[in-house]
Amino acid sequence: MSKSIPFSFEFFPPKTDIGAEKLRVVHQELQLLNPDFFSITYGAGGSTRERTLAAITDFNGKGSPIAPHLSCIGDDKSRIAELLDFYQSIGLNRLVALRGDLPSGQVGLGELPYAQDLVRFIREHSGDHFNIEVAAYPEMHPQAENFDQDVQRFVEKVQAGANAAITQFFFNPDAYFYFIERIHKAGVDIPVAPGIMPITNASNLIRFADGTGAEIPRWIRKQLQAYGDDSKSIQAFGHEIVIKLCERLIAGGAPSLHFYTMNNTYPTRQLIKDLDLA
Ligand code: FAD
Repeated sequence: MSKSIPFSFEFFPPKTDIGAEKLRVVHQELQLLNPDFFSITYGAGGSTRERTLAAITDFNGKGSPIAPHLSCIGDDKSRIAELLDFYQSIGLNRLVALRGDLPSGQVGLGELPYAQDLVRFIREHSGDHFNIEVAAYPEMHPQAENFDQDVQRFVEKVQAGANAAITQFFFNPDAYFYFIERIHKAGVDIPVAPGIMPITNASNLIRFADGTGAEIPRWIRKQLQAYGDDSKSIQAFGHEIVIKLCERLIAGGAPSLHFYTMNNTYPTRQLIKDLDLA
């Protein structure tokens, strides 16, 4: 049995009314597990602004602790300030501050080109009101020149005022432990929650990993490919892999786990149950 640690869930804003209705049900089901908070993503340049706000307002009204994501690239300070004031006015006090990725072809980085600029701006505008989470990349951000420089950029985000971090998903726990060791050596000691991606669909997982620079170890990729269309076997294998990953992370001192739910109750609920976290 693993040690019990806090956990949080991530949603993305649905594009359709059917998706929004489904997410309401998923939220209700996952709320029963008592997560630390639900975070809701925000499209770079404000592309999901209305839909993100709708989900936040809905779930906040139901008494759930909410952490809106806020990205800065391609946006301007006044629009970000409006959001900060709105979140504060409805009683929110936690944010996930990100740079975001602009769609290809779109130029103009905006007034705040990096997440560290956003963190600094939030502190200037809202003081210490918000607990600010930032992103971390145990396997290095895909655009970073090298690992050392990426660690240094992370340290700068913390120096700008971040309180905690959530990682990109990964399947190699050693990458996480090494990243933690490196930031500790650099004098940074904020909690860094591993981001956990459940495995249910091989092609989606490979697509996400290729898009984010996350590594799927060769043996996992090969086995997933070998299962072909056999989704039952993929889910059983994926569940086992992710449970073992979480167990190692918990045993190694991870402060909490952040689940990329992909707006589904299963398999996140099953992982929480089998890890005995609820
Ligand atoms: P940064 O910390 O700014 O880093 C981006 C890159 O720039 C890195 O390579 C870094 O090394 C480099 N860098 C940083 N500062 C400087 C500097 N001053 N000079 C030169 N180089 C620098 N995206 C969304 O659009 N919406 C979301 O809701 C969202 N949620 C996410 C949640 C989590 C937990 C994670 C891990 C990612 C999320 N993303 C989201 C994706 C994220 O926006 C992308 O990974 C993006 O490419 C980087 O964002 P960041 O905040 O890590 O950027």
